[in-house]
Amino acid sequence: MTRNTPITALRGVGEKRAELYKKIGINTVGDLLFHFPRRYIDYSQPVPIDTAPLGEHAVVKAMVIKKNGAARIRQGLVLYKIFAEDESGGRFTIVFYNNRFASDALHEGEEYYFSGKVSGNLTRREMNSPTVIKASEKDLLRPVYPLTEGLTTAMVTANISEILNRAEDDVFTDTLPDRIRLEYSLSTLEYALRNIHFPKDEYSADTAKKRLAFDELLSLQLGMMMIKNHNRTEKGCRMDIRKADMDRLYSSLPFELTNAQKRAAADIIKDMCGIYPMNRLVQGDVGSGKTAVAAAAAYFAAANGYRTALMAPTEILASQHYKTLSEMLGPLGVGVCLITGSMTKKQRAAAAERLTQDDCFVAVGTHALISESTVFSNLGLVITDEQHRFGVDQRAALAVKGDSPHRLVMSATPIPRTLALIFYGDLDISILNELPKGRQRIETFAVTSKLRERALGFVKKQLDEGRQGYIVCPMIEEGDSEIASAKSYVEGLKKTVLADKRTGLLHGKMTAAEKDRIMTSFKDHELDLLVATTVVEVGVDVPNATVIVIENADRFGLSQLHQLRGRVGRGKFQSYCVLIAGSVTEESRKRLEIMTKTSDGFEISEFDLKMRGAGDFFGSRQHGLPDLKIADIAADRELLAASRRAAAELLGESPDLSGFPLLRAETEELFSRCSNAAEAL
Ligand code: ADP
Ligand code: MG
Repeated sequence: MTRNTPITALRGVGEKRAELYKKIGINTVGDLLFHFPRRYIDYSQPVPIDTAPLGEHAVVKAMVIKKNGAARIRQGLVLYKIFAEDESGGRFTIVFYNNRFASDALHEGEEYYFSGKVSGNLTRREMNSPTVIKASEKDLLRPVYPLTEGLTTAMVTANISEILNRAEDDVFTDTLPDRIRLEYSLSTLEYALRNIHFPKDEYSADTAKKRLAFDELLSLQLGMMMIKNHNRTEKGCRMDIRKADMDRLYSSLPFELTNAQKRAAADIIKDMCGIYPMNRLVQGDVGSGKTAVAAAAAYFAAANGYRTALMAPTEILASQHYKTLSEMLGPLGVGVCLITGSMTKKQRAAAAERLTQDDCFVAVGTHALISESTVFSNLGLVITDEQHRFGVDQRAALAVKGDSPHRLVMSATPIPRTLALIFYGDLDISILNELPKGRQRIETFAVTSKLRERALGFVKKQLDEGRQGYIVCPMIEEGDSEIASAKSYVEGLKKTVLADKRTGLLHGKMTAAEKDRIMTSFKDHELDLLVATTVVEVGVDVPNATVIVIENADRFGLSQLHQLRGRVGRGKFQSYCVLIAGSVTEESRKRLEIMTKTSDGFEISEFDLKMRGAGDFFGSRQHGLPDLKIADIAADRELLAASRRAAAELLGESPDLSGFPLLRAETEELFSRCSNAAEAL
C-alpha cells in the first residue's frame, strides 16, 4: 500500500464510504494518513456516572445490563436504548439515534468505556451517542477526527489502523534530512504518523504533533522564501544614489522625519540601487507617517529619471495622496497627476496627456485605473497603499506578470514581527515603530450601554465646538439587513441630543462613488457626524474629527478597534474614543481595558493574537496564506522560528530545493491552492 493507493483498497470502504471521504477531501491512503485528529479522548480516568456534572463531557466505565430493541419514534427516526451500570453501582441510559451499527456493537454483560455528554436529570442520567471502546482495550488515548455526516470515529480509526499496518516503507520515507531532524530534536516521520493517530501517552502525541507542525511551517516558509527568490530572477531599474539630493526634499518638509521614517527611506533607496527589483513592505501604525516615506521613494525615483505610480484602494484616499504629494514634491519640480474613475473622459484625457510631460513623475490613482494606464513610460516604482488584505497569492500575481518596477507596499495593520516574517515572507520589511513627536494620545473610555446617552452628550459638546465625529453603528446579527439596521440607527439618533446635527450615513452596500461622495462631504465639513458600519475607510484623514463612538465594541477584534480609533487624533485637537460594550464578560472587559491603556498598535495586536488565536485574528481564510492543518502560527512561535532557520539553511544549500525533492513536493502541495503563488515557486 502506497500513499497513492485509492481509499477503496481499505477494508470496509466501498463506493459509499469513499464518497463520504471525498467530501472531506480524502481520496487516497496518503490523504487519510494525513487526516489528523482534532483532539484525543483519554479513557484512562473514568468517573462514576453519578458524579459526572450534567451537561458536560465525561468518560465512564460501565457494563451493559440490558438492551431495548429498536423503537421507531416517527418516520425516519429510530431510537436504540441501552442500560448500563458502572463500577460504583450508578445506572444510566445510553441512547443512539438511527445508529444500529453502534447499538449492535454493544453486548449485554460486557464492559466498555463510554465518552460523551451527560444529560438527563439527577435521578436518571443519560448519554446520547457516546463514543465507545471495549474495557479490555489497552490504548486509552483515542483520536477524535474531523468527520462528516455518516462517517464515524470508529470507521476512520479502523481505516487508519489498517493503513498503519499495511503501509509499505516508502509511505514513511522521511522528508527531512536526518541532520535537520536531529538539529531541531524532531521525531522521525514514521513515529509522528503512527503517534499522531494512536499515541501511547500525551508525550508521544505532543512529540508527533511537534514534528508534523514543524513540517508544515517549514513548507510554508520554504514557499514564501522561494517566491521571494523568484522575484530576484528579474532585473530591476537600477538607480544611483548620487543622482538624488535627499536633503533637498527633507529640508523642504514642514517637519523633521522620525528616525523610523529615515531608516525606512534608507532601506528603500538601498533596494532601488540594487540589481533586483525591490519588494518591500513598510509597516507602520496609523499616523506613523507612511505617506512621507512614499514621497521620499518617489522623489528618489524621479531624481533618477523614473516615474512612480501610487495606487490607493479608494478614490478618496487617492485624492488625499495626490494633494499631499503635490504639496511635498511639486515645489521641487516633481510633478504629480491624479487619475480617478469619477473623472470625465475629458479630464482623464488631460491627465493622460499630463503623464507624458517631462516633469510629471508621479501618477496617483486607484488600483484599477493605474494598472489600466500602462501608457506610463519609464515606470520605475509602484507603491500600493493600505494593502492589509493583500495575500501572497495576489502579490505573486504581480510578480509573475514579469513587470519589473520596484514595488513598495504600505500597510497600516500592525502584526507582531515574527508573524510579519511569515505573512510577508516574500517581502523585505521596514517597520515604522515610532510616531512623530508631539502626538496627543487619544483618550479612550470603555463604557456599558447604560452610559450611551452621556456618550452622545459628549459627542454633541465636541460638535458644538466646531469639531466632527464618527459613530460606528452596532454590528448586525446574521440575516439582518445592514442597510436597514444602519438606517434605523440614524433614525434613532433623531430622538437624541444629536438630532439637529448634519448627519451622513456610510455603509458597505454603497457603491464606491456613493461612499466617496459621503466621505468627501464629511471631509469638507458639510457634515458634522458620520454614522458608519465598519467600512469607515482606513487611512482617511479628517483632522477636524475628534471623537469616535464605537457601538458593540466588545464584538470587534482589538486590532480593528485600533484601526477605527485611528480615524481621530489626526489634527491639533485633543481627540476621544468611546467604546460602548453591548454585553460585558470578564474577557471583553479585559480586552477593552487594553484599549484604554495603550495606543501602541503592535502591543495591541500581540495581545489580541494571544486572546483570540491566529484563526480569528487574521479572519479565517482571509489572510491569504495556504491553509495549515496542524500548526498554529500564533501559538507555535518557537517552532516557527526554528522552521524559519531550517528553511533558510535548506535553501542556502539548494535554492530551488532540487536537492530535497520530497520537501519540494510537499511545499508545492501546500501552495497548490494559491495558484499564483504556486506558479512562482
Ligand atoms: P499613515 O502612516 O497613517 O499613512 P500619514 O502619512 O497620513 O500616516 O501621516 C499622518 C500625519 O502625520 C500627516 O498629517 C503627516 O503630515 C504627519 N507627519 C508625517 N510624518 C511626520 C513627522 N515626521 N513629524 C510630524 N508630522 C508628521
Ligand atoms: Mg496612510
